Amino acid sequence: MLEGKLGLVFGVANRRSIAWGIGQALANAGARLAFTYQDRVGDTVNDLVATLPKNPFTLACDVLDDAQVDRTFEQVDREFGGLDVLVHSIAFAPREALENPFVETSREAFRTAMDISAFSLVQLARKSAPLMEKRGGGSIITMTYLGSDRVFPKYNVMGVAKAALESSVRYLASDLGAKNIRVNAISAGPIRTLAARSIQGFPKMEEHVREVAPLRRNTEAGEVGDVALFLASDLSRNVTGIVLFCDSGYHVLGM
Ligand code: NAD
Repeated sequence: MLEGKLGLVFGVANRRSIAWGIGQALANAGARLAFTYQDRVGDTVNDLVATLPKNPFTLACDVLDDAQVDRTFEQVDREFGGLDVLVHSIAFAPREALENPFVETSREAFRTAMDISAFSLVQLARKSAPLMEKRGGGSIITMTYLGSDRVFPKYNVMGVAKAALESSVRYLASDLGAKNIRVNAISAGPIRTLAARSIQGFPKMEEHVREVAPLRRNTEAGEVGDVALFLASDLSRNVTGIVLFCDSGYHVLGM
């Protein structure tokens, strides 16, 4: 489905990362990929990426560092000469903001969560657009959670950041649509990753989904990867600006 396509994936930290599930799905469908990583997880990411076909390459990139982001896109342009797919699977909030009541969120924690978890999509979309234009268009995919819309215990400022992220998806879709660049989000059910472990009571969220979600089970990263494959491929060529749920149907419930 993605033979001949070029993709850039942000957000692999380890084998449990949703970005890894997505990267595997895209690579197995024929895409040639590049992956970015935060410095401290470089070795893990390099080992994982070496298992994929078509010799993907890796680049260190912290989205808080504009120079690193610029270098990343310059290098991708040099290697690929364009870009078809961008995967943004990045989020962060300071620990105390996920432990204390939301009302106590500090200005600094609020700013950090919004910067890394929401603004970075705008930043990466802006850098991707010229590379995607060279290819006649592209697909940008980000990861979100139902905490954008409903209150989940201890999700706190991350819920506010996800609301900003989902709104950014719509504004970006409107800005970039004329260039045939599509922008969509996948809203996943709880998956036990590094980031998820920082949310207190996460096992309880998983258990609750297993008990009540229409499909009576949790979400796997590979399932999110398959949804991303659809959004990356031409099968979704007329789909932009949406939040697509991959959550065992949990979001339809009232109680
Ligand atoms: P993860 O910890 O594996 O991935 C988070 C990634 O964000 C890591 O690779 C980390 O290096 C990266 N990151 C954080 N700060 C960064 C920075 N300054 N610069 C560059 N990268 C940075 O966890 P995950 O659960 O795979 O999270 C991926 C995305 O999926 C996040 O947006 C998360 O909110 C979203 N999500 C997760 C779940 C879940 O239950 N795990 C559910 C829905 C949505």
